Amino acid sequence: ETVSEIVEEESPDGRILETPNLKVFTFAELKTATKNFKGDTLLGEGGFGRVYKGWVDEKTLTPSKVGSGMIVAIKKLNHESMQGFEEWQSEVNFLGRLYHPNLVKLLGYCWEDKELLLVYEFLQKGSLENHLFRRNPAIEPLSWELRLKIAIGAARGLAFLHTSEKVIYRDFKASNILLDGNYNAKISDFGLAKLGPAGGESHVTTRVMGTYGYAAPEYIATGHLYVKSDVYGFGVVLLELMTGLRALDTKRLSGQQNLVDWLRPTLSLKKKVKTIMDVRIEGQYSSKAAILSADLTLKCLEHDPKNRPSMKEVGEALERIES
Ligand code: ADP
Repeated sequence: ETVSEIVEEESPDGRILETPNLKVFTFAELKTATKNFKGDTLLGEGGFGRVYKGWVDEKTLTPSKVGSGMIVAIKKLNHESMQGFEEWQSEVNFLGRLYHPNLVKLLGYCWEDKELLLVYEFLQKGSLENHLFRRNPAIEPLSWELRLKIAIGAARGLAFLHTSEKVIYRDFKASNILLDGNYNAKISDFGLAKLGPAGGESHVTTRVMGTYGYAAPEYIATGHLYVKSDVYGFGVVLLELMTGLRALDTKRLSGQQNLVDWLRPTLSLKKKVKTIMDVRIEGQYSSKAAILSADLTLKCLEHDPKNRPSMKEVGEALERIES
């Protein structure tokens, strides 16, 4: 049985809406939405299916509270072994009630025949993973200030999920952090681990579901997930933000299997902090901020979930580093 920690307070800038403000789209409307968009419509393919870019006009959106026409991201879910419609719908309605500036807003959905589609707000700058690791000349490297801003936003979003309704993200990683035009971080795909087929595929999976390199030790050992398992995943993202290295990067860290393994448990805390700082490739930040961030990262990566801070504490610690 999965044990989740109970956290009582609610994040002040987030809201749980009384009723879902979701639009139920028809398949025809979404087909038109992708046709309306001139340009490349396939944004990418992830663990849950394909994601398309579309334009939904004002008239189509009016029944929801969105107001005017907008660019959207339409996620087509793999439907094999998907749970029944009623369970799916109640879960989606629940997700539609969550509102927070650091969560990608779910605008609506469509269930027709075997097509399951989720419609999200579109985020202009795409995923953090693309910014960190799939650099092309068109993507500017992220400054230390932006990395910190992104970490703070993602921490707030995750803290809201944990505190509001005790949602455990389950598979938190850099590809699930999306960035708007101002590099505000928003968490995508929250709740999807529950909706998707059991054992939802990721590029690299452990024997249980999850992404190798990000999965918390207790998850790998027992298959049990805790709120604090997300904190571990967040720690891995922090490590990636600081070092510019991928969680799973066998090329750079020859002989090691992933980024975290390279922080060998036998190293003293001081040596680990130094190792993180030595390996960093970006080198734009002050050593004081680097030491504090490295220290926080290591706390998130503690082996025992109980010793990891809560996401609220992580967010506050990052804000102190920023100020
Ligand atoms: P993954 O399973 O790897 O996290 P996703 O299925 O979430 O991938 O998304 C696939 C691609 O589509 C990603 O590269 C991501 O950048 C892009 N994408 C997903 N959702 C959005 C969105 N709301 N706005 C902009 N781009 C998105």
